[in-house]
Amino acid sequence: MNLELSEEQEAVRQLAEDFVAREITPHVVEWDRAESVDKSIVKKLGALGFLGLTVPEEYGGSGGDHLAYCLVTEELGRGDSSVRGIVSVSLGLVAKTIASWGSEEQKRQWLPGLTSGEAIGCFGLTEPGTGSDAGNLTTRAVRDGEDYVVNGSKMFITNGTWADVVLLFARTNDTPGHRGVSAFLVPADTPGLTRRTVHGKLGLRGQATAELVLEDVRVPASALLGPEGKGFSLAMSALAKGRMSVAAGCVGIAQAALDAAVRYAGEREQFGKSIASYQLVQELISDISVDVDAARMLTWRVADLIDRGQDFATAASTAKLFASEAAVRAANNALQVFGGYGYIDEYPVGKLVRDARVMTLYEGTSQIQKLIIGRALTGVSAF
Ligand code: FAD
Repeated sequence: MNLELSEEQEAVRQLAEDFVAREITPHVVEWDRAESVDKSIVKKLGALGFLGLTVPEEYGGSGGDHLAYCLVTEELGRGDSSVRGIVSVSLGLVAKTIASWGSEEQKRQWLPGLTSGEAIGCFGLTEPGTGSDAGNLTTRAVRDGEDYVVNGSKMFITNGTWADVVLLFARTNDTPGHRGVSAFLVPADTPGLTRRTVHGKLGLRGQATAELVLEDVRVPASALLGPEGKGFSLAMSALAKGRMSVAAGCVGIAQAALDAAVRYAGEREQFGKSIASYQLVQELISDISVDVDAARMLTWRVADLIDRGQDFATAASTAKLFASEAAVRAANNALQVFGGYGYIDEYPVGKLVRDARVMTLYEGTSQIQKLIIGRALTGVSAF
């Protein structure tokens, strides 16, 4: 694995850093308080190609490798995890899955819009009663002539109220022991699909998280993504790659925590001296720095494995597990450096703590990542 960035990778990273400084950082507090980022950010992300990374250019994508995708994701996460998450879902979970599994017609129908930011995608797997145990989902799609009729509900769906297309997972086979889940591309304006914003989140407040209710939603058989009954594998392969993106976002949070802690420690004086001169403050800062480096290396390793066509699923769980826990620790350590000022939202680190916390929960909780890693090592499933 080459740890030196190529010229193209460094150029795309710099582009993302400049974009964040110009278009995101000035609005972070305002968007967090308003519980919504400015939706126009999506088209701006698309215009720079950030919503099309790794997607082939013939479908409107901007190409590039997974390390470039990680670098952009890290910079976005450093700026605002709410914006980072919009990209991780619309590109990472939806567009990339369509690019891998979609028919030619589905790719032509959805990818140009998703990669340009004209359209937004959401990933509808979790339900009120099934989170970690997603394979037991109860939303049903019943075949009726040329259509499927879908009934059920989905919970905590990122981009849910903003999305133009829902990558929806529903049960199409009830045979006991059969994982008969299928994936569908459902236009969000299909009659019978209603969406309700989930308010009051601890973090990622700028994101449109939603509950979806499906009542007799009729979709044509041509909306099936991948073969019928293969939806669970499709979801798991999307999430394995998605974990790299979450991990990269966590590196961004930890890096932002480090930047803020170093800056503040240099400015703040107590007992007549800069707090940076105290060993216990330096311990907090060096702990953050070690977390940043380790999380970044684990994340880049996943990108490298994907780009070389190697198995990456266990490495992705390892990176996601470590980076998410590291982001929580790093943000918390930075808050300690800020003292009481860390606790109010005019200063950046309180938001980092709130945003970091969910990273250990979604796309598989830390416990679920440990079960995936344990299964890979022992050959025994402990789910
Ligand atoms: P549960 O599965 O009920 O887990 C509760 C606790 O039990 C956890 O600590 C868990 O680790 C533990 N646990 C469960 N099973 C086991 C086990 N076998 N062994 C040990 N411990 C176990 N979902 C989507 O489909 N699309 C999205 O876009 C999306 N975005 C989200 C955005 C936000 C802000 C949030 C909060 C969630 C989002 N989710 C999304 C849902 C997320 O993926 C789930 O919340 C997550 O998978 C956990 O499921 P749960 O909340 O039902 O918790």
